[in-house]
Amino acid sequence: MKGLGRWWRSRHLERERARFSDRDWERAWRRLPLLAGLEPLAVERLKELALLFLRAKTLEPVQGLRVTAEMELTLALQACLPVLELGLDWYRGWYAVILYPDEFVPEHEVMGEDGVVWTEREARSGEAWEQGPVILSWADVDAGRRRDGYNVVIHEMAHKLDLRDGVANGCPPPHAGMSASEWKRAFSRAYADLCRRVDAGEETEMDPYAAESPAEFFAVASEAFFEIPARLAEVYPDVSRQLAHFYRQDPLARLRDGSVSRVCHKRIVEETRKLDVDHEPLRDADQDLKARQR
Ligand SMILES: [Zn+2]
Repeated sequence: MKGLGRWWRSRHLERERARFSDRDWERAWRRLPLLAGLEPLAVERLKELALLFLRAKTLEPVQGLRVTAEMELTLALQACLPVLELGLDWYRGWYAVILYPDEFVPEHEVMGEDGVVWTEREARSGEAWEQGPVILSWADVDAGRRRDGYNVVIHEMAHKLDLRDGVANGCPPPHAGMSASEWKRAFSRAYADLCRRVDAGEETEMDPYAAESPAEFFAVASEAFFEIPARLAEVYPDVSRQLAHFYRQDPLARLRDGSVSRVCHKRIVEETRKLDVDHEPLRDADQDLKARQR
């Protein structure tokens, strides 16, 4: 880094650091079991990335949500874990994180095969727009408290990494030394296997939402890689290896305890909801039983 760049970086860091107390850091860190086992140097690097992330992205709470310092750190630490060994530059080109209190219902215009355009309204826990904001439900960000394979922040950040080459296809730009054909082979096989098992109504170790598309498979596999790496390595070892090459991390080595809860979220197709109001939050006591769109 050039001298001026280093100076700016340390000034930004200083300003951000002053906003958070040790207690904020401790409480945010305690919320996130997926950070267990990080080496002290990696801990410091992740904290620094989280501060720079909060400096670079505007956090926009909506629907009256009040965001505390602890909540900001909880979000930023999860967002920066995937780029811990890649650098924040992988998140360049977008500037906002919109934070809903809970699930939201965006309206999207969709064109059917017959050319008819209709408005889709589906409850979501997160969204990532190409060169646009990331939209998250705080209730789902806070679900990072459980290491169960579901992590909406990592999911949306994986979409952002996938979109670095302009296409959401489950293939983020590979690093030097990675083999695109090995990546494709590992992911195609695993995706086909998961789709077959979901179609057959079998229980799956990975969230069946991954069967939606190759892009969703990559995002859900990334959630599993950081939350329940032993389970992913057991079911799809080639995918686990490819992700370790891509993220340049080995959560499997640091999260050795194996004390994870079951990953499978039952796939229950929600009834189409007809809502008049855009972005109305949904309340549902049984959120874990829904196939959450993200
Ligand atoms: Zn997704």
